[in-house]
Order: sequence, then C-alpha cells, then structure tokens
Amino acid sequence: MPRFSSGREAALELRPDQPVYCFRPQVLAEDASAFLKAFPGKTAYAVKTNGEAMVLDVLARAGISAFDVASPAEFAAARAAAPGAELLYMHPVKAQSDIRLALEHYRIRATALDHEDEVAKILRIVRALDLDPEDLTLFVRIASRGDAAYELSKKFGAAPGHAAELLQRIHGLGIGCGLCFHVGSQVEDPDTYVRAVATAADVREAAAVPILALDVGGGFPAAYAQDPRRPAPLMPPLGEIVSGLMGAVERHGFSGTPLVAEPGRVIVARAFSVIVRVLLKKGQRLYINDGIWSSLSDSWTGKILLPVRHIPDPARRRRSGRAHQMEPFRIYGATCDSVDVLSRPFYLPESVDTGDWIEIGHIGAYSLSLRTRFNGFYPDTFVEVDTPFEAGDAPEGFAEPERRGGVEP
Ligand SMILES: *Cc1c(COP(=O)(O)O)cnc(C)c1O
Repeated sequence: MPRFSSGREAALELRPDQPVYCFRPQVLAEDASAFLKAFPGKTAYAVKTNGEAMVLDVLARAGISAFDVASPAEFAAARAAAPGAELLYMHPVKAQSDIRLALEHYRIRATALDHEDEVAKILRIVRALDLDPEDLTLFVRIASRGDAAYELSKKFGAAPGHAAELLQRIHGLGIGCGLCFHVGSQVEDPDTYVRAVATAADVREAAAVPILALDVGGGFPAAYAQDPRRPAPLMPPLGEIVSGLMGAVERHGFSGTPLVAEPGRVIVARAFSVIVRVLLKKGQRLYINDGIWSSLSDSWTGKILLPVRHIPDPARRRRSGRAHQMEPFRIYGATCDSVDVLSRPFYLPESVDTGDWIEIGHIGAYSLSLRTRFNGFYPDTFVEVDTPFEAGDAPEGFAEPERRGGVEP
C-alpha cells in the first residue's frame, strides 16, 4: 500500500479522480488500546462496523482477543485475522444452518436471542451435535430505551418480563445464562447505559437464575464535526461514559458478574478518511465522486456531520470566494439517483471549486462495509497515512462558530 504522511500529501501527489481511502493503522491501534484500557471487561470488537482484513489484523495485534460476529463471512474474517480469538455470535435472529456452522465448525459457545423460538432452534442443534449444554452461554437481549443516532430496540430485544421467562427456560435446559443489550449506535445520552443496566438488574431479580455475564453492547460515540449553527452537545469522553456505566454496574449488583462490551464505531471511526474530488460546483452545491451508495451512507442515515478538509487543486489558477469564509455546502453524490444527497452539509471555504479535493475524516465505521456497486461506482483504492486526520492544519468544518449559514433545502 502506498504510504503518505497526510491525506493532503496523498491528494496532491496522486491527484486522484476516484475516492481514495486513507488507512491509519497507528490511530486504529491507539483507539483499540484506549478502549481496552477504559473498559474493565472483555472487549469484543463488532466486526460489522468494518470487517476489512487490514483492520482486523491491526486489532488482533493491538490485543483485541474477542470479536462480535453475526454471519458466516464474519466468523471466517475474524478467525483468519485472529485464529485464537473468541467469537461471540451476538445476532439475536439466526439461520438454522448458520447456528450449526457456528457451533460445529467454529466452536462458538456464546450467542444472543430474544425469543423462545430461537432457543428451540439452538437446542435442536445442541442435541444433534451432542454438545454439553453447560458449555454454552445464551445471552438474552433486553430491549433498552435511549437516544442514539440509531435506535435498535425497535428491531431487537425482549421486554423485561419476557426476558426473565427466557432466562428461566434457558436455565431449566442446563444452559448458561447471560444478559445483553445494545443501546444503538452513536449514543447521544450516556445515561442510556445506566438505564439499560437498571433494566438488566430488574430482569435478573425477576428471573432469579445465575447470570454468568453481562454484555453492555456497543454504541460508544465517535468524534465527528460540530455544527456551528447549533450549541455543542454535552458528550463526555469515553472514560466518563465508562465510569458512569461502571457506577450503575456496581449499584445494581453486577460487580461480581463478568462484563463484555461490543464496541465498533468508537474503535474504528478515526482510522480512515476518504479523499474525494469535487466533480462540479453549482452555487452552494458540490457534486462529488462518492456518496450514500459508497462511503457515506452512515452519515446520511445517522444524520452525522462529518469533519472535512479542503485540499485546493494548485493547478486551478482562478478562484472566486474567500478562502477563510466557511459556508455550508450541500453535497450531491456520484450516482444518477436523486436520493444520493447527504443529509448534512460540509462546511468548506467559499472558494472551494470544481477539481478540488476534500478529505472526509473519521469515516472508518460503517463506510467500507456499506459500499455498493450501484451505478457502477465502487471505490476500492487504499493508501496508508501516518498522521491522524486532525493533525496539521485544522480541518475545516470546526471553524467559525459565530456563522449562521443556511443550507438550501
Ligand atoms: C452494530 C452492533 C455493535 C456495534 O455498535 P457500535 O455503535 O458501532 O459500537 C455492537 N453490538 C451489536 C449487537 C451490534 O449490532
């Protein structure tokens, strides 16, 4: 992989017309270590966030020894990167054949569920393979309420009464019981974890069976840009979120229970940026060579404001607009599809123009994994970059908080 000191250097040297991903292995290793240090339990990286081999390899070397996996392709990817790692199969609704593959071939011994029919599916395979039920831990996923960019309790999770019944059923079969929740991705209120732990305690009391592990899921927020038109949200750093969570763990009598976390976004977001090119400027609109069907679907659905850096094309002789005046630009994607428009603007200098590059930072989570081949566009060029995205000249988009711009609807 070609190597550069910064995204700017890569853009100016390569002059790319296709999106180029800048991978930062040092940043990835640092963010993985930071999570391992902050969280006093087992850290299982959520492979769906970014399952590229280059990512899993760095994580394995940084000391991540467990992976949250959801499909046969993820089992294989995690095993290839870390042959000795523990795999946790935390998808609550699984195909019968995938359960069999997990238990038989990959020797996975922990999985999640939120319904009795899933218990029946698993039990059928445990019996067919003549496994000892005691070797297995089934995590009952409880529904949790909270504020996150993605709220997942609408799709998965048992209500507390139902969760308690499921635990009793699992315990009755001689299988180990765990409790898990996933508050959604990019939580916006750290008390969401505190409330979920309280619910888990209620379920534990109602079920009155031994709980072998509490899995607090993912959702830990990554740093993105700040909208200059809105007050800064009060999102505490990871350490504080984890201390709040640990306070609840203690208060609710889970101190002696082994803990698991399934972080994705917070570990991998900063590890990638993507260099895109402005194909056309039309007033306050920029048409770029990436979009919601390539690297930017997460920012679209999650309404995330991405940090960006303007890299002017030195070959452009004439420019209009001020280089120090930040403006919100509406971003149009590469495909012919009319929904391929970002839900949040990029804050860039007024002087940005056709042919310039934009380095979009912190896109390591839910970008590469969500690329499609729609309309024939599939970015797949990688370079390695040594310095973090935020190093050097400040990225644009954080500046000029006093400005009150409007984005055309
Ligand atoms: C997606 C997912 C995660 C990772 O969530 P992040 O917000 O990226 O940390 C963890 N656990 C489960 C069950 C998931 O579905």
